[in-house]
Amino acid sequence: MDENNIDQTAIQQAGDIIKNGGLVAFPTETVYGLGGDALNPESSAKIYAAKGRPSDNPLIVHIADMDALYPIVKSVPEAAVRLADKYWPGPLTMVFKKKETVPDETTGGLDTVAVRMPSHKVALALISASGGYIAAPSANVSGRPSPTLAQHVAEDMNGRIDMIIDGGAVEIGLESTIVDMTSKQPLILRPGYITKEMLEQVLRTEAAYDKAVLGVTSADEHPRAPGMKYKHYAPAGDMVIVKGSEDQVISYINEQAAEKRAQGEKVGVIATQETCMKYTAEDVVNIGARTDEEAIASHLYATLRAFDEAGMTCIYSEEFDTPRIGQAIMNRLIRAAAHQIIEV
Ligand code: AMP
Ligand code: MG
Repeated sequence: MDENNIDQTAIQQAGDIIKNGGLVAFPTETVYGLGGDALNPESSAKIYAAKGRPSDNPLIVHIADMDALYPIVKSVPEAAVRLADKYWPGPLTMVFKKKETVPDETTGGLDTVAVRMPSHKVALALISASGGYIAAPSANVSGRPSPTLAQHVAEDMNGRIDMIIDGGAVEIGLESTIVDMTSKQPLILRPGYITKEMLEQVLRTEAAYDKAVLGVTSADEHPRAPGMKYKHYAPAGDMVIVKGSEDQVISYINEQAAEKRAQGEKVGVIATQETCMKYTAEDVVNIGARTDEEAIASHLYATLRAFDEAGMTCIYSEEFDTPRIGQAIMNRLIRAAAHQIIEV
């Protein structure tokens, strides 16, 4: 479905499915979402079942206009209004104290609710046609890389859900930035396309990163975004991130790749346009130019999935320390690699 030529009949059909308790996967500007009626506890239970997601990992509620926010949250801080003015619709999720209208099943038992207003026109049309509140996590099987194409959704969800709306490739390719607005100081629970600096410009105060973002929570601490505690975004192969000067990274990865191949492993490398010709592994993917961080972000998940398709058992990646969304990219990559980072 073309964002600029929306098929209203299909949207009505999809909206009816959601109103009747069914599930529809749909495109957003971040990644594909797996949508159900956010106010229907049975729909949320179905989402968890389809994804194989632990039910204490809450869902994000998607709305299509600002008026829809007030019936589901206890209060909207002034800072949140300013952020909404600037970044909604868009890739920003805010956490509020929830009202009783939002079932515990949707929020994983938390007394807060995460809310986002996406900018993708298909998503907005679907939310409106579905009664106004769609609970939607990423439309992947729990633990796998998030879907950036309808085809990825089909790989994971065929036979488990009622409909997939194919809107082509998503624009951003990383999940939304999540900010907790319930504490005095806005707390970034997950980095994304909207950076800390972009938030602070609007807030005119400092925002803070949750400990889980910085990777310093211990296993027994309860992270504020429960999703952060699970292994995430991961390809099937064993992945390692290699940090260091370009020459050293390349020679280290080439040595390791040769050794692993000799042991019968299938080795993939995530490289950049500048370096991809210098690797000798069998599957070298050019994720984009080093300076084009939007390209790196939008290709990341498809690259991880392609390694699965090709049956790669070992994956090496360069580090992508880009200026703006580099932190969001590295946050996902580090989890995909289960924190295996080597400095050379
Ligand atoms: P996904 O739907 O796959 O993008 O994951 C949603 C993320 O939002 C997970 O990491 C959740 O833990 C987080 N999240 C959803 N609701 C809340 C909430 N009420 N408080 C904190 N984090 C939340
Ligand atoms: Mg997800």
